[in-house]
Amino acid sequence: MALVDLATAALVADPEEVATVLEPTADDGALAAAVGGNAGPIAISFPTFADGRGFSLARLLRERHGFKGELRAIGHLIPDQGQFLLRSGFDTVEIADPDTAHVWKFSLERIGRNYQPAVRNGLPQRWDASRKAAHTLNEALGANDDLVSRIKAIRSHIEGRIAFSTSLGLEDQAILHAIANSGADIDVFTLDTGRLFPEVLEIVELSELRFRIRIRLVAPDAAEVEDLVARDGVFGFRQSIDNRKACCEVRKVRPLNRALQGAQGWITGLRREHSNARAEAPLAEWDQDRGLIKMNPVADWGTDTLMDYIAANNVPVNPLHARGFVSIGCAPCTRAVQPGESPRAGRWWWESEEKKECGLHVNENGKEKAA
Ligand code: SF4
Repeated sequence: MALVDLATAALVADPEEVATVLEPTADDGALAAAVGGNAGPIAISFPTFADGRGFSLARLLRERHGFKGELRAIGHLIPDQGQFLLRSGFDTVEIADPDTAHVWKFSLERIGRNYQPAVRNGLPQRWDASRKAAHTLNEALGANDDLVSRIKAIRSHIEGRIAFSTSLGLEDQAILHAIANSGADIDVFTLDTGRLFPEVLEIVELSELRFRIRIRLVAPDAAEVEDLVARDGVFGFRQSIDNRKACCEVRKVRPLNRALQGAQGWITGLRREHSNARAEAPLAEWDQDRGLIKMNPVADWGTDTLMDYIAANNVPVNPLHARGFVSIGCAPCTRAVQPGESPRAGRWWWESEEKKECGLHVNENGKEKAA
């Protein structure tokens, strides 16, 4: 028998005597007793390599019972399981033949794919790499404020599908213009909630003709809308914040999530000036819930910069803007704003400012930033 240190992949020169051996059937009381009376390493037995109960016991010992000593895996284990043992909280593994230690070393050094959080290396490697990629992209976008260059940088940094969710608002029209001029392959869609202003649909067609880009209309599930209206009524969203959020969930959030499935990147028209909730919006960030990089390429633009871009490039805009509508959502939930009001004062104006969320923009802690 020999012992391999899972962290270093080296043989342990002078192994300690095991104090307690836990079978995979050990209950919580047995784990507590093992930790309570511990005077040395705890070993967990694996009767076959296909029996995963020992991994769960290790995690419970570390996370629930706070065991800090050496945790050893004994029994029928194979080198491919080395990384999983390590990530579950094990320190060492007992092997029958010391001459096979090099196989464990080979495996421990090469099998490094983490698919879910664990006791050690809590963040899966894929997420970790994606978070770094988002950070790198955020810096790259910040280095050049030309919008077409930013779209090109986005396209060159991200492999796979990039989706742009447009509400056909001013920011989104500027981004659409830049996408068209960049030649970047980007999937453009808008959420057709069933309650849009006719002017929004008109600007969809006008933009398609001008930019020669198809804008997909993503609709909510018809049965879900029928159930919602049957329960709350046609204007049920006016009765309570819960009703309003339920309507946004069915008509916006779920269709958005469906449209973003399989995308590696998501472009939005968020700007920091929109509201306090968006004041720190980065140019690019990792969206943990959706598992993609979310990009806000005009986040740092002021209103003057935006309007200058639109004027200089003759970008088509929704005629409702000229009638005082700034942020335009569904028709029954949007009104024109008065001079001096916040740009989003016209959205769900019957609600307090901090409640104006519909779940489209959620940060990595799961908190909504704003609609
Ligand atoms: S904005 Fe209004 S109508 Fe549109 S989905 Fe939300 S609550 Fe429903």
